Amino acid sequence: MEFKDFFSTLKKRISDGYDVPEFFHDLFAMITDVTEEEWGTPLDPATKKAKESSLRSYAKRTIPQKFAQKIVYRLSKENFIESLNSRPTDALELLADDFLAYDAETNKDNVAEKTADWFVEIIQNAAGFVPKSAMEQSKQQLAAADLKAKYGLYLLSEVGHNCPFPGCGRLLTKTNDGKTVDSYEVSLIDKKKAPEIQNLLALCPQCYATYFLDDTPKSCKELQEVKRLLVTHNGSVALLDNLPLEKGMVGVIKKVVKLKESDLVNASLDPKEIKQKLNPADNIALYTQVNMYVTTYFVRIREIMMSLDKRGDIEYDEIQDQMRAIYKRLKKAKKANMEIFNEIVDKIHRVSLQEDIYCQIIVSYFIQSCEVFDAITK
Ligand SMILES: [Zn+2]
Repeated sequence: MEFKDFFSTLKKRISDGYDVPEFFHDLFAMITDVTEEEWGTPLDPATKKAKESSLRSYAKRTIPQKFAQKIVYRLSKENFIESLNSRPTDALELLADDFLAYDAETNKDNVAEKTADWFVEIIQNAAGFVPKSAMEQSKQQLAAADLKAKYGLYLLSEVGHNCPFPGCGRLLTKTNDGKTVDSYEVSLIDKKKAPEIQNLLALCPQCYATYFLDDTPKSCKELQEVKRLLVTHNGSVALLDNLPLEKGMVGVIKKVVKLKESDLVNASLDPKEIKQKLNPADNIALYTQVNMYVTTYFVRIREIMMSLDKRGDIEYDEIQDQMRAIYKRLKKAKKANMEIFNEIVDKIHRVSLQEDIYCQIIVSYFIQSCEVFDAITK
């Protein structure tokens, strides 16, 4: 189906008398959450919305490839169907009649689903994706089922049960009445290479279906980068697996969480030493962050640690040794400072289940107190 026919049919039945640009906004808001500023179409400086003249011209032809590429991985058939099904039954009946020429089985009950499929196809075509033949599709389905059976569980845990496609993040396992249901597929990253574990990624069904049609080198490169990050991160997690970290850390963090502004005002520290461990020129974001946390929290955290140690709730010496050991192991594996910082934060998070921001504050504390990061040697 061509976009101009799709657009004019829907406009006739569900636009409530809106004119072309208004209905264009509405129609795309039903299928994607990508805002108009991100569409990559010419913007009207006054309204920050797509230019009306552009929208009128798209409605008569089709949408530009660049625009289609911006939204193709952020489509939600579910939203579109829900929104369409909320329209009056009369309108749906008329719409179903209009679309009978395209699919003789269309009726008011299935017109929303069929329309969603057509809309997605139109956007995929506009993005430059080439439709695959039925044979290619069924071959792919068989291969995917086989890979899922072989590597599915491993790949699911590799991505932490979230779709790793940039901008997606959908959950890959859902709970229905206490039962866990998987909702993912195993995709090749580089489609020209063998289906080996380093070339496979678990994706949500939507991203999987879109990527199946997408042969652009850009998307492949993006997924290769995602895989590289996941492999490095999971390698670090495994590296730290058998290193203990006191559960007493939970108590420390809970006390840090409760600190109020008034507790912190008279307890700031000027952490000149941080510069000896982190070079601002190497990573200004990390340096600034650590510096700020140390300035604000160091004095109070030391008090908390000492008092918990005195009461026997934690073994401060032990925690210092553990931190040092964790740092040393990451350092030995030649991880960069930013990675080391994030991996220790992650380790504390796994042990304590406390929010990352408080785990970052704790790691910053241990940088100042010399367990994490060595002084820079010149
Ligand atoms: Zn996804």
